[in-house]
Amino acid sequence: MCGIVGVSNHRDAAKIIFLSLYALQHRGEEACGIVSYDGKKIYAEKTTGLVADSFDERSVAHLKGSFAVGHTRYSTTGSSSAKNIQPFLATHKGRPIAIAHNGNLTNTEFLSEQLEDGGSIFQTTMDSEMIVHLLAKTKNGDLKSWMTEALCQLKGSYSLVFLVGDVLIGARDPFGFRPLCLGMINDAYILASETCAFDLVGARFVREIEPGEIVFIKSGRIESSFLPLGNKKCKAQCVFENIYFARPDSHIFHDNVYSVRKRLGAQLAKEHPVKKADFVMAIPDSGSYAALGYAQASGLPLEIGMIRNHYIGRTFIQPAQFLRDFRVRVKLNPIRDILKGKKIVVVEDSIVRGTTSRSRVEELRKAGVKEIHFRVSCPPIRFPCFYGIDFPSKKELVASKKSIKETARFIQVDSLKYLSLSGMLSVMKNSQQFCHACFDGHYPEVVPQKAGKYLLEKGCK
Ligand code: AMP
Repeated sequence: MCGIVGVSNHRDAAKIIFLSLYALQHRGEEACGIVSYDGKKIYAEKTTGLVADSFDERSVAHLKGSFAVGHTRYSTTGSSSAKNIQPFLATHKGRPIAIAHNGNLTNTEFLSEQLEDGGSIFQTTMDSEMIVHLLAKTKNGDLKSWMTEALCQLKGSYSLVFLVGDVLIGARDPFGFRPLCLGMINDAYILASETCAFDLVGARFVREIEPGEIVFIKSGRIESSFLPLGNKKCKAQCVFENIYFARPDSHIFHDNVYSVRKRLGAQLAKEHPVKKADFVMAIPDSGSYAALGYAQASGLPLEIGMIRNHYIGRTFIQPAQFLRDFRVRVKLNPIRDILKGKKIVVVEDSIVRGTTSRSRVEELRKAGVKEIHFRVSCPPIRFPCFYGIDFPSKKELVASKKSIKETARFIQVDSLKYLSLSGMLSVMKNSQQFCHACFDGHYPEVVPQKAGKYLLEKGCK
C-alpha cells in the first residue's frame, strides 16, 4: 500500500503535503517523505516512522517552494531500508524528477533485466525506481509522449504523483487498481490517494483521476490524456480498498467508503441472519461500519463490546513474559459487564491469517460470552494479491488452507459465515469494475514472472 499526494502552485506546498500525509497515515506507517521545488532547487526530507514523529514546523519550513509531493510507505516490494523511502529523486537533462508511487508493478524482473543490460544501475530495490529509468531511456520529445511511452511499459498497479520540474503529474494504471483523486485549494491543484486528505487541508474535491489517465498540471492549468488501453479495456479497482483499506470518510471509486461498508454489513445480515441474538458488536475499528449496517438491517441492537486504546505507539515496551496476552489486551479490552452470558453476533471486515480473530474471540470467551456467531463482510480470502495489498502467500491465508468449518474451529466460534462474492459485488457501484482476485483467483491480467508461474501452477486465470 502507500499514500501519495502532490501540490502545484501553492505558497505553502510542503505544509499542505505534511497535513495531507497525516490524513493518509493509515496507508503506510513505515516511513514518509516530502520533496519540494522552488523553481531552482529541490528540497527533501525523508525518514522512517510516523508522519507526526518525522516532521515538525521547522523541518517543514525548510522545504521551500510552491511545488511538492509526499509519500507514506508500507513496503510490499523492496526492503524497509532508508534508501527505499519515497518520493524517489533523480535529475534528467537538468530537470529534477520526484516520484511517489502507490501500487505494485508485476513485470519488474523483466524490466530490470532489460534496463540493466542497457546500462542502468539501480540505487534501491523499489519497483518505483524502474519508472525513472524508463523515463531516462525514452527518447520522445514532449512531456506527454515521454510519459506515455514510459508508463506503457509498466504492468501491474500504479497510482503515481510526479514532479518534473514545475509540472505536477498524476497517473493511474489502465485497470485503476489504486485510487487517485484531484482537488483544488482556491486555484491550486492537489492530487491525493484519498479525499480524506482534501478535507483536512480545506481542498475541494474535483474528481477522480480515471484509470489509464495522466494529468499534467502547470501554471494553474490542467491537461489530461490517456494511455493507449490495448487489451486493458476493463477496470479492476481493488475491492479491498472499500472493505478495509481506505478511510471510511473518503470518497473513492465513485462512492463513499463508509456507506459501502454499511451496505456490506446489511447484505451480510440478509445472507446470514442469527436468530435471537442479544446484540451485534464489531471487532473495532475495522469491523465497525459493517457491524452498524448488520445491526440496522437485522433489527438487533448494536453494542460496543470492546474498547480500543488509541494511545499505543508502534514500539511500546515489551512487557514481562508472564503478561502473555498483553499485546492483544493493550489494544482492545472487552467490557465484561455487557458480554457475560450473552449470545452475540461479532462482525469483522475480513479474515486474513485468522490469528487476530482467534485472539479476539479468546478474549471475548474469557469475558464470559456464551455464544459467538462470527460474521465477515467479505468472502474468504484464498489468493495472494500482486497489486499492492499485503496478502501473504497462499499457505499463510487461513481460508486457503482450511474449510469454513475448520476455520470456525480454529478461531473457536459457534458459527462462522462470510458474505458471498455476488452479495459483496451487489452493493458496489459499477460492480463489474472491481478486482476481486483475492477471493476467486481471477486476476485481471496474466501476471508475469514468478507470480505468473505460481498462478499457472494453481490453475488460476
Ligand atoms: P486475522 O484474523 O489475523 O486474519 O486479522 C484480520 C484483521 O486484519 C482484519 O481486520 C483484516 O482486515 C486485517 N487486515 C487487513 N489487511 C491485512 C493484511 N494485509 N494482512 C493481515 N491482516 C490484514
